[in-house]
Amino acid sequence: MATDKKIRKSLPPGATLGVLGGGQLGRMFSQAASKMGYRVCVLDPAADSPAAEVSATHIKAGFDDQAALAELARVCDAVTTEFENVPADSLRFLQNSVPVSPPPEAVEIAQNRNREKSFFKDHKLPVNTCVALTDVSQVAVAFESMSGKAVIKTARFGYDGKGQQVCTSAAEAESAFEEFGGVECILEDFVPFDCEVSVVLARDIYGNVETFPVVENQHINGILDLCIVPARVPASVLEQAQAIAASLAEALDYVGVLAIEMFVCGESISLNEIAPRPHNSGHYTMDACNYSQFDQQVRTLIGLPVAKVNLHQPAVMLNVLGDLILSDGFDWKKVQQVSNGHVHIYGKTEARIARKMAHINLLGDNVESLLSEAESLKRL
Ligand code: AMP
Repeated sequence: MATDKKIRKSLPPGATLGVLGGGQLGRMFSQAASKMGYRVCVLDPAADSPAAEVSATHIKAGFDDQAALAELARVCDAVTTEFENVPADSLRFLQNSVPVSPPPEAVEIAQNRNREKSFFKDHKLPVNTCVALTDVSQVAVAFESMSGKAVIKTARFGYDGKGQQVCTSAAEAESAFEEFGGVECILEDFVPFDCEVSVVLARDIYGNVETFPVVENQHINGILDLCIVPARVPASVLEQAQAIAASLAEALDYVGVLAIEMFVCGESISLNEIAPRPHNSGHYTMDACNYSQFDQQVRTLIGLPVAKVNLHQPAVMLNVLGDLILSDGFDWKKVQQVSNGHVHIYGKTEARIARKMAHINLLGDNVESLLSEAESLKRL
């Protein structure tokens, strides 16, 4: 960290920021950067990248293409990522010539659920019973250490509920392990949670941490559907969640924006997973806070201190998936007419089932009435 501080002066407007990944998170990063006077270069293999559409330049290449990475390092003054499965070695390669955040080591931890859970345990952070699995012969013994109901997940590349299955017997867990192709997995005890929350935070190169308000998350079929802010949990849980998140960021010596997903049971918390980037559950910050998670991503990347964050108003964020757009009678106009709704459309050329296409932030004085507005919006 000290070394980073010495070599890293804050970058003036006009500098070029690189982003690995060209999805909606890169797009919103680029929009925030451009508002602050920075140019963005996107590296992504897709020709129709939502981020590239709003950025100054696009290097169309894979995340492990050395020549493309060298070109990115040449044209950029600092580089970040919006995609957690970018090879950590690509980040290390870039780091030889430009400042990179988040740190490759943190990204590497977040890429593997077993590494992630071991890191939590090593740092005495609250985590549910879980066992790493590398061979089917380990599954039955591991299941015995659970409470009778468990979730088996692939250690890598799972997202939005993909690559995981709830099991109520060792045999079920074994067949899921085989179905996943015998790849490294994790078996986690099933958490009978009251609700799921997340904390999005930013940590700068000086070690300052700023956490955004805690978000309550509701999923449908493993995909985030709604976010509610402030989360409807006891004040002691809010405090604990923010304190755990901040100590995790410190333990990782993190720089950039980090999201931490947690399960809440009564007044206790257990950590689920982290994302080393802005997060879907932080999208409400774009309209409900004085600084968004993307503003903080830009600030931490250009070497500015994190900004102090305030929530202007309670918010409910609603994801718009391809399912809705493909349904009969869908019309953007109906969505755009919601008077207190802020609609963010990602510019994706094709709507597909379960694909995140847009989100809507509803702002108001009262979370319960925002939730009924969200329900009527869904019925539109
Ligand atoms: P993940 O990909 O780990 O975020 O899991 C997706 C969703 O599955 C979570 O948001 C939870 O709703 C559910 N889930 C995951 N792990 C567990 C667990 N150990 N116990 C209960 N539910 C879980």
